Amino acid sequence: MGEVRTDDEGWLDSVKRRVYGGIFAVVLLATLSVWALDWPLPSGSWVWIVSVPVVIGWVGVLAIASLVERVPMRVIEAAALFGCEVTLVALLSYALLASPRPHDALTVLLWVSPWTPAILLGVFVTFELRAAVGLATASVALLAAFVLAHYFTYGRSGGAPELAVTAASTGLLSVNAFFATGLFLLARLKHRYGEMQAAQEVLTRLANTDELTGIANRRNILRACDKELARRARNPRPFSAILFDIDHFKRVNDKLGHPTGDEVLKRITDVMNAALREGDDFGRLGGEEFLILAYDTDLSTAASLADRLRAVLASDRVTGLPRVTASFGVTAALPDDSTSAMLSRADRALYAAKQRGRDRVEVQAAWVPSSTPPP
Ligand code: GH3
Ligand code: MG
Ligand code: MG
Repeated sequence: MGEVRTDDEGWLDSVKRRVYGGIFAVVLLATLSVWALDWPLPSGSWVWIVSVPVVIGWVGVLAIASLVERVPMRVIEAAALFGCEVTLVALLSYALLASPRPHDALTVLLWVSPWTPAILLGVFVTFELRAAVGLATASVALLAAFVLAHYFTYGRSGGAPELAVTAASTGLLSVNAFFATGLFLLARLKHRYGEMQAAQEVLTRLANTDELTGIANRRNILRACDKELARRARNPRPFSAILFDIDHFKRVNDKLGHPTGDEVLKRITDVMNAALREGDDFGRLGGEEFLILAYDTDLSTAASLADRLRAVLASDRVTGLPRVTASFGVTAALPDDSTSAMLSRADRALYAAKQRGRDRVEVQAAWVPSSTPPP
């Protein structure tokens, strides 16, 4: 399955490309100027003569690659880290194994000290937790191998200057091991947090979705109604609710069985979803009763919408499923309205639609209790 890139990732990618391009350019200039300042190069310093052009070439390739959209960011990051690690290994082998002069070794250790934790940080930022742990462990183990190799080659049999190198390199190793452990703990926390966030999203979706039909459940659609009424209190605008209930649905279950009844409910949801206007909300209140919230819609427009939906449902035919109709009750929000008051009016209209023969739309503009005594 292809990876889906979100807008955030696209934004981060373009920012990274610009930042890395800048960093590579600075490193390139710095390396070139250090090299130029040393010109003419002392004869015999072949490491200096060979390694600097290699670094310049490598950083130059990375700088160009970071400007080419087609080269994935991960490849550039991995290549940059690989280059840093190779440079580090080259410097450490020179300092701890190849150079017999403790002064040179201490100078190189001083140079590399700030870079080793930076490389570890880069590893944890660039790679997945498992790969990062593997690479960081390998990097620290390599450093430990250098420190031990130096100790057994020079430190053990040497004097105070050699032991100073052992002490400095052991210090560097300890800082790296400490840093790698800290980064691992942080990365694991981040990983756990990501997992918890994903689980939270699933729970929220489950808590707000009707299991059978996949649309908003009662809690969710009623909360949407509460929200709109609260918004209207600040900024009045038309708002209508359309309640509908499948006609004689018990018969469907009785004749064809509950599973077919479930299929009918799913089909009704699909038909309504396809026929609904963009922006309106649709939820299942329970059983075979549904609610549509029509925003910026007055009573007569909502009644026309309900009638269109009624007709669409009544004319829907699917092989293997019975034809069903529904009755609709429509109401519009009044000043200082509440969700329960709106639902009561819509329910009253729905009851009237059932009474007047089903497969029809009735409206209830305002609440008129039937028991109100005449004035
Ligand atoms: P009316 O036209 O008056 O609404 O008649 P009706 O048969 O639709 O109404 P009634 O309230 O008597 O029956 C509703 C039926 O809906 C009864 C119940 O078994 C069925 N029902 C409720 N929820 C589900 C469900 O999730 N799946 C299925 N298959 N049936 C359900
Ligand atoms: Mg019914
Ligand atoms: Mg019902």
